[in-house]
Amino acid sequence: ANVKAPDASVTPMMAQYLSIKADYADALLFYRMGDFYELFFDDAAAAAEALDIALTKRGKHDGDDIPMCGVPVHAAEGYLLTLIRKGFRVAVCEQMEPPSEAKKRGAKSVVRREVVRLVTPGTLTEDTLLDARRHNYLAALARVRDDWALAWCDISTGAFHVMPVGQSRIGAEIARLSPSELLTTDAVDETMREVLGDLCVWPTVLGAASFDSTAAEGRLCTAYGVSTLSGFGTFDRAELSAMGAVVDYLDITQKGALPRLTPPRSEATSRLMQIDAATRRNLELTHSLQGGRAGSLLSVIDRTVTAAGARLLERRLSSPSRDLSVIRGRLEAVRWAVETPLADRLRDALRRVPDLDRALSRLALDRGGPRDLAAVRNACEQAADILRMLGGTDLPTTLDEARAALSGFDALRGTLAAALVADPPLLARDGGFIAAGHDAALDEARQLRDEGRGVIARMQADYAQQAGISGLKIKHNNVLGYFIETTATHRDRMLQPPLSDTFIHRQTTANQLRFTTVELSEIETRILNAGGEALDIEKRLFADLRAQVLDAAPALSGLALGLAEFDLSLSLADLSRARDWTMPQVDDSRAFRIEGGRHPVVEAALEASGTPFVANDCALDAGDGAAVMLLTGPNMAGKSTFLRQNALIALLAQMGSFVPARAARVGLVSQIFSRVGASDDLARGRSTFMVEMVETAAILNQADDRALVILDEIGRGTATYDGLSIAWAVLEHLQAVNRVRGLFATHYHELTQLAGKLDGVRNATVAVKEWQGEVIFLHEVRDGAADRSYGVQVAKLAGLPAPVIERARTVLQALEEGERERAAPKALIDDLPLFSAAAAAPPTQSKVASEAEERLAALNPDDLSPREALQALYDLKALT
Ligand code: ADP
Repeated sequence: ANVKAPDASVTPMMAQYLSIKADYADALLFYRMGDFYELFFDDAAAAAEALDIALTKRGKHDGDDIPMCGVPVHAAEGYLLTLIRKGFRVAVCEQMEPPSEAKKRGAKSVVRREVVRLVTPGTLTEDTLLDARRHNYLAALARVRDDWALAWCDISTGAFHVMPVGQSRIGAEIARLSPSELLTTDAVDETMREVLGDLCVWPTVLGAASFDSTAAEGRLCTAYGVSTLSGFGTFDRAELSAMGAVVDYLDITQKGALPRLTPPRSEATSRLMQIDAATRRNLELTHSLQGGRAGSLLSVIDRTVTAAGARLLERRLSSPSRDLSVIRGRLEAVRWAVETPLADRLRDALRRVPDLDRALSRLALDRGGPRDLAAVRNACEQAADILRMLGGTDLPTTLDEARAALSGFDALRGTLAAALVADPPLLARDGGFIAAGHDAALDEARQLRDEGRGVIARMQADYAQQAGISGLKIKHNNVLGYFIETTATHRDRMLQPPLSDTFIHRQTTANQLRFTTVELSEIETRILNAGGEALDIEKRLFADLRAQVLDAAPALSGLALGLAEFDLSLSLADLSRARDWTMPQVDDSRAFRIEGGRHPVVEAALEASGTPFVANDCALDAGDGAAVMLLTGPNMAGKSTFLRQNALIALLAQMGSFVPARAARVGLVSQIFSRVGASDDLARGRSTFMVEMVETAAILNQADDRALVILDEIGRGTATYDGLSIAWAVLEHLQAVNRVRGLFATHYHELTQLAGKLDGVRNATVAVKEWQGEVIFLHEVRDGAADRSYGVQVAKLAGLPAPVIERARTVLQALEEGERERAAPKALIDDLPLFSAAAAAPPTQSKVASEAEERLAALNPDDLSPREALQALYDLKALT
């Protein structure tokens, strides 16, 4: 706001700053000044706070001090990372010429500067800024009339995808991709903004021109260097618009250095298992409900040893297939990996595979260095190793194709191996990465340079003798270059003939005298020239090698994917062996039969405490045609765990993994829906019952007869009879109209009567034992309905005070008796004596109760830590 248009009163530098800043109003401008990036005005204030660095002043603008802060260039990446994480975009403005050039134009000239890159969350390529094991997607959501489309790319790997998407599925698809940055236009309306808000996605809004579908075709053709897109497939207007926006944004942010992109791949949702945002959240696929990766399914199954393998796993888990041949192909690959005696050796080789995709992308954007070339070399070497190990082994199709992608790199590998030193530096800038013996001219220049250094050492000895000063040294600094130094005590001798004939005085410091000689200057020039020449040769060779690598980029991408495929198969196999998982049978039927199924995450968590997990069967068509299981049982019995484990088994099977069960047969599942009754979902802040109903409506409207639906305590968010009626109607509809396979957990025992009324609904219960008034959880799923809910016993386990438990028993008994006598609940409640009167307690009871009530009323559960809550419970208990 305090940035004004340049005028005559500002310094030339400030004028330049302001004119550049005007183009990047919504980004922080990193303005390069020597070894620092400086920020001014509001940018400085914002960055100083976000980075916790000092805010200072520099000069005046319109009579006011100019706020300023700066970060050193060599440490800039770390600061960038913090700023990006905090939601800023950063425009990096570099000096485009050495200051000496500017001086030639006049004393007042400013160094030419340009923004070379706009750093945004979706366009990162640096390893330090990226999570190696996750994709970093930049996505665009486009709308042309009533058609919507999504395009997304990961510029750090080059992957580029597009698909049309029905309006109702946009949220689900965005949840699947979970992009770091989403581009939209103003055409995105209020409802869509709400959908995105729910997913915590804050779009970057671009002008309509970026989304223009006609301009998009031209832009894409230019990007791929083709005259027509038809070679890539056919795309509708919305798809073109979305892809065009992605490419345009890359152009804006990368300043014309277009990253390497694979040809756009159309993704057909019809071939993927559909999982909406709420289901992803509930099943905790890639993130736990707490938000982190820990506790998610992904964290438990990820045993990959390469970054690309980890990203492939995340992709598969986020988008399981519903194509039988694809699924079976992947399962065969895992089976081979389980059985092969080569597994350990292959995984050892894979552990040494670098992140080839990301190295390639940096090279393509000209942000790469010698270490990226070495990554290509190492990947090729490991690929050759793996090929040797595999030899002519019979492989299942998926891995056979992966193996084919590993060959054909001998020449490139040879070139890189001969050209590069073993451990090259990160940057090409200082040279030193080309191996000796690779280039004769380079070797010669280096020899001259190094010999020069030897000559200097000899000169030092000669001069020391000539001057008779044993402490005489030849040193080097950036100002003087090479110089001769003695202590000031030799002043008289050095500054008089005959020594002054040879030694030309250059400088006197507090304690030292510095000289040069004609001979030394000559040698210095030779060393500098040779060093400069060596560096030039290295840079040229780097460009050469980079070009060769980029020529092979498409094949190298294939190599990267092939290695990732091996890594994934082997890691899933390792998991299966270690955890005793089994190969599921996936077919075209409507069967869903799991024997001895387990919940991988709960099992892993229990393992830590030494508790065994109780395996359970689940048959949704056990010959009786029943496709819906209605599960009752007390809280804490294991209902949610059972529901989720079956959904996870279906999902794992269709992503092509073995499953945590003794045996499993899964008839293809098209969609998975998972819903949890509202009271588990308090944190989200909207009317929770409303949320629950909206999400339930989505299932009723979308589920087809291949859907697998798990509903956990649906209807809980409202009054008992409302809830029961809604749950009843929903189940009927899902069973009779949608014809889904489903697992429903409920505490409404009345619902168990449905099983008698509807074909295809079966009751099951999680068994508990009652022993001396306490419940013992067996975690065993059995046929039949639970006889009671044991809520009071569970409450007791939770530590509710004894009088409250006693009182609850009385009320429960009265209610149950009333029910048997068919009394209306209202009358029944009226008949119940009041709490205080009923309790057989000393006369102080009512005072105590009211004090307890007051204390309770004063408590705000949201503000309490678990420890404080416990303390509060102790305090309340102390009142009794
Ligand atoms: P509910 O949904 O019936 O309230 P949960 O599924 O949340 O119960 O399970 C409660 C706890 O019981 C879980 O956190 C887990 O520790 C344990 N549990 C659940 N299922 C099993 C099982 N099959 N074997 C062992 N422990 C289990």
